Amino acid sequence: MDRELLLKLKNHEVSFHEIDKTVESKAAIELRRMAVSELTGKQFKHIDKFSFDVENVTKRNIENMIGAVQVPLGIAGPLRVNGEYANGDFYIPLATTEGALVASADRGCSAIRACGGANARLFKDGMTRAPVFRANDIIGAKRLVDWVNANFQRLKEKAGETTRFGRLLSVEPFITGRSVFLRFSYDTKDAMGMNMVTIATDAAVDIILAENEVELIALSGNMCTDKKPAAINAILGRGKTVSADVILSREIILEKLKTTPDKMAEVNYRKNLIGSARAGSLGFNAHAANIAAALFIACGQDAAHVVEASYAITTMELTDEGLYCSVTLPSLPVGTVGGGTGIGAQQECLGMLGVAGAGDPPGTNAKKLAEITAAAILAGEISLVAALAARHLAKAHAALGR
Ligand code: NAP
Repeated sequence: MDRELLLKLKNHEVSFHEIDKTVESKAAIELRRMAVSELTGKQFKHIDKFSFDVENVTKRNIENMIGAVQVPLGIAGPLRVNGEYANGDFYIPLATTEGALVASADRGCSAIRACGGANARLFKDGMTRAPVFRANDIIGAKRLVDWVNANFQRLKEKAGETTRFGRLLSVEPFITGRSVFLRFSYDTKDAMGMNMVTIATDAAVDIILAENEVELIALSGNMCTDKKPAAINAILGRGKTVSADVILSREIILEKLKTTPDKMAEVNYRKNLIGSARAGSLGFNAHAANIAAALFIACGQDAAHVVEASYAITTMELTDEGLYCSVTLPSLPVGTVGGGTGIGAQQECLGMLGVAGAGDPPGTNAKKLAEITAAAILAGEISLVAALAARHLAKAHAALGR
């Protein structure tokens, strides 16, 4: 331990990030942790324990690293998925501190499996970035829109120079006075794609600026929309647009979920549909964000994208056999390469689902992960709606969550 450097850190003579230039990653982590420990007067017995590759993580995933936070990991399933990319029984890794969540998802998986599995289908795939420009007036704004429409191919080529896998699919303009938002949408294959599309759009912006009398105000103009609740994502989609459905038989609902199709349909109607509408919610579901958050943390996804996952719409309709249940996620940003997907534990969780790394052909692993995620969210919806219908929710939480 370099006591002199530690003292400088504590006195703010050297900043937390500066020591990375002079000492090795592991030593820098220890020094920062020790400085924080002494500055706060707290002993750290847990955050100093981790097994992942420090060199990789400090290069790609974290700055000013001092350790790691452990999140308990549970398993739900097997979940049978009948998708175009995901086919078979999957063990769903869920990292959470919320008691009763894994048990609930597991019960949903069991009901789905007993009814033959959940269908899953992808309907759209496009990661977006929307820069905002200022034109002189609406005449200039219209001129820019016309230019973009006439030069799409050139924008695509320019953006394509920055990536081997990303491909520009469309540029959709939105005008407000003299503000022009260009919503670029890309196929990003197995990457969730936010870095990829940001870099590609930045390159495309260069030719827009060179040939138009407009100013770039921000590379992200919030019509993307990244990590904020936004109707545009719920309507047009962002990342994967994916659905899952299943018909639950009356017998399985009685046996496994301890309620009836009629009661579940009414809970879904009055809670997920009317209640959400009355609340002005963008999501019409019971707890899609719960399953998404736990799966995202386990699988190295960008946890802030739980916001997008929360726009899910859940439907439940009575049928002759029992209950038709579906969940539709208009905006699910997921990937199996890049971001946190390469970190040891996260990669093991992706491996459990058979989607670690790049797919063959490229893009198929991320699509498979999207289908599995949608089916897992459906399992969570079924279980929670059933618990409410049977008035078991409070009891389950009293028993498992506290
Ligand atoms: P990334 O790690 O920046 O890029 C993915 C990389 O994987 C690219 O270098 C790509 O190569 C490569 N790759 C290899 N095989 C691939 C395959 N089969 N399909 C697709 N790519 C493949 O990850 P990203 O998904 O673009 O960005 C995710 C990160 O962005 C996360 O850490 C997230 O937290 C962060 N993020 C960034 C922003 C932002 O504004 N920049 C916003 C939100 C989140 P090529 O590039 O040559 O194609």
